[in-house]
Amino acid sequence: MTYSEQIKARYGRALMGNYGQPPVALREGAGSTVTDVDGNAYLDMIGGIAVSSLGHNHPALVEAVSTQAARIAHTSNLFFHEKEVELAEKLLELWGNPGRVFLCNSGTEANEAALKLAILHGNATGKAKIVATEHGFHGRTLGALSITGKAAIREPFGPFAREVVFVPYGDADALKAAVDADTAAVFLEPTQGETGVVPSPPGYLTAARELTASAGALLILDEIQSGFGRTGAWFAHHAEGVVPDAVTLAKGLGGGIPIGAVLASEATAALFTPGTHGSTFGGNPIACAASLAVIDTIEREHLFDSVLALGAHLEAVLLADPRITEVRGQALWRGIALAEPVAAETVKHLLGLGVLANAPRPDTIRIAPPLTISQTELDAFCAKLVEALDAVTPAPGGRP
Ligand SMILES: *Cc1c(COP(=O)(O)O)cnc(C)c1O
Repeated sequence: MTYSEQIKARYGRALMGNYGQPPVALREGAGSTVTDVDGNAYLDMIGGIAVSSLGHNHPALVEAVSTQAARIAHTSNLFFHEKEVELAEKLLELWGNPGRVFLCNSGTEANEAALKLAILHGNATGKAKIVATEHGFHGRTLGALSITGKAAIREPFGPFAREVVFVPYGDADALKAAVDADTAAVFLEPTQGETGVVPSPPGYLTAARELTASAGALLILDEIQSGFGRTGAWFAHHAEGVVPDAVTLAKGLGGGIPIGAVLASEATAALFTPGTHGSTFGGNPIACAASLAVIDTIEREHLFDSVLALGAHLEAVLLADPRITEVRGQALWRGIALAEPVAAETVKHLLGLGVLANAPRPDTIRIAPPLTISQTELDAFCAKLVEALDAVTPAPGGRP
């Protein structure tokens, strides 16, 4: 038995089965490369699912985390510290709207907080209904799960306490039919990530903003996956110029250190008064220091310029292959749609070729690599994807 087989067997005995058995145990990383316990190297095209925005072992992140750990690692919210103030101010500056910030530890927690704001808003205005989208994903805790539009993961845990109405994603008319005087809030992702990187059509967020504003409902945008550089901007909704009542963040926000945040308008944020919400670890000093290092590095290295250029290059290269029908999304956050439903098989083959990717649905491969990836690495990915496709689906007309 190799060491990797041994540790796999131990994983299977010691950890619960909710993830199934992951294929490899990773030990370390540098830049866009990770190495498993047997010393095999992989090009990381999934970045811990849109999390490791600076890649692995980035000196700025290592320095920020180690310095903060050596100073003070935790204060609780009985006390406060400088890094949370600095981070909250910086997030509001990047958002560009007046408001306030709540800090937590994950995406689902950010949505829980946003749901509590929606409920308080509904209580104050006599509105009960929450509107969310089919195939949307907002997290695994019971509140966030109740607004998640994937029946297979939601239904085993229902019924839920709140009325949630699901509408087809990207359909402004369906949204219009659902949003009424009883609607407290609408939850939307600017692009649905877990469904295979499916962007909303132009004008959808604007329509959602107009509908919610006239109904007196909150518009809450889940930018947990789309935010923080994935689309080549801090916030995907900036592209449409809409101002939501609240936006939730996590994933790339900490570059690999767990952190989540809710940014809300002054009026929405004012619904939280002392005692209405809290978190022991929320706004943890190490997590805040990590997030500040991510922001500083993205700014200093002008990473948005490079990810937009690299994304355009990637799209052009991949679309030249007839087995790839569409390259959805923006920058370095892509749903690569295949003519055949062989995404899972292709991803498995890519692993054997030393590439980590993911198949969120049968016909789509998702990539969300570090924002620091080089063009050479991207080109290597494209070549290996073609090689994997050759193995699982021969090119039409026959490839030699
Ligand atoms: C990942 C994700 C979440 C949940 O975040 P966790 O940190 O896993 O709780 C929520 N919404 C979206 C859009 C996500 O991609």
